[in-house]
Amino acid sequence: MSRRSRDKQSWEVRASTLARNTHNLIRGIVENLQVEPNPNKELIALSVGDPTTFGNLNPPEQVLQSVRESIQWHTSRGYAPVTGHLEARQAVAEYSAHQGPISPENVILCSGCSHALELAITVLADSGQNVLVPRPGFMIYKTVAEGLGIRIKFYDLLPHKQWEVDLEDLESQIDDDTAAIVVINPSNPCGSVYRKEHLCDIINIASRNHIPIIADEIYEHFVFSGHEFVAMSALSQDVPILTCGGLTKRFLVPGWRMGWLIVHDRHNILGKEIVKGLHNVASKILGPCTLIQRALPSILKNTPQSFFDEVVLFIENQAKLAYEELRRVPGLRPIMPQGAMYMMIEIKMSMFPKFENELKFVERMVSEQSVFCLPGKCFCYPNYMRIVLTVPEDILREACQRISLFCKENITSREKMREFESSEMAVQKDTKVICEDIPTIA
Ligand SMILES: *Cc1c(COP(=O)(O)O)cnc(C)c1O
Repeated sequence: MSRRSRDKQSWEVRASTLARNTHNLIRGIVENLQVEPNPNKELIALSVGDPTTFGNLNPPEQVLQSVRESIQWHTSRGYAPVTGHLEARQAVAEYSAHQGPISPENVILCSGCSHALELAITVLADSGQNVLVPRPGFMIYKTVAEGLGIRIKFYDLLPHKQWEVDLEDLESQIDDDTAAIVVINPSNPCGSVYRKEHLCDIINIASRNHIPIIADEIYEHFVFSGHEFVAMSALSQDVPILTCGGLTKRFLVPGWRMGWLIVHDRHNILGKEIVKGLHNVASKILGPCTLIQRALPSILKNTPQSFFDEVVLFIENQAKLAYEELRRVPGLRPIMPQGAMYMMIEIKMSMFPKFENELKFVERMVSEQSVFCLPGKCFCYPNYMRIVLTVPEDILREACQRISLFCKENITSREKMREFESSEMAVQKDTKVICEDIPTIA
């Protein structure tokens, strides 16, 4: 017999606190935008961080063949151990050797990198504690944490220093309840790639304050010429690093949901409890898709370097194209990325006083020019917008022309435009300060 204090007279089904407090910032903002495209122009979405959207970027044949073969094996159909098949974890350990020595016991296969981040956060932080994340930054950490009562605190990145971490701000955000520091390198949405010295500065702060690092390295190796990717775990002496990665971005297969978490803890600071805890939390989904697990060793070993090089070169050229086009646009200041697949563009809002904020700016750009860029608010960073660089070249070119037209038509006055044009001649030589000298309207 069930015991109830009273008979329910009607249906009272409520969403749980966890469900009500779980939000995806990008979805929330995008769904509330008034985005009716101009019916005379085809919509160009520069908003979706999914390299497969336009069909121009595809994984190499070897990768597809690995999955075709996987379907034949009965081990690709059954359950795997919750942390993944040993062969797959061994393959990840070898593929990730640049991060430092890795034993397969310290690799946990996950359902995408977001799942790896969820494991890392939930294992390190309790309700009431906080996790430090970069601003601007990808906001999946917020989605994961807040429903569980874990607070997100921001540390600032510096747009005028290629989005390096404001180290002073980072250290000042640390308090008694700080459970972890998240570092995204290369960054979504900034496209920044940190130098070794800068990563060491961050690690030193973590070391002084005894805080483990969650390294979101889903864009590992995704860096343009002249830049170098260095894994945080390769630099850390004592700070435990939980590195999150996966197939998603580098192999252009976000829908395959294959990611991993690697525990780097050379000085056994975390002890057995954290790895055990990760196994416990991983068991909630009984392990990720075994069809892809079975294919993983072949995917990681047989993908030719030329494939990676071609994709990165394509994106680097796209970045140069967009940067060259947009830096000439009055009221915009693009920041040239060093890697990943995105570019952040500052919108000099004072030159567009008719728009209350950058949300209104991007909304109107959709209704006039049918170009949709993600507003900075999605990354907790107003007055900017993010574009994705993975779209085909002709579409990117067209999008930049429409963005330019939009800005020219909506900037405060013709007079200001002329001022811009003359000042542009003066600053053209130094691309970094373009737009800085333009008088702004209060
Ligand atoms: C895309 C992305 C992820 C999520 O990757 P999935 O494997 O699709 O879960 C995580 N972190 C950053 C910074 C990303 O851009």
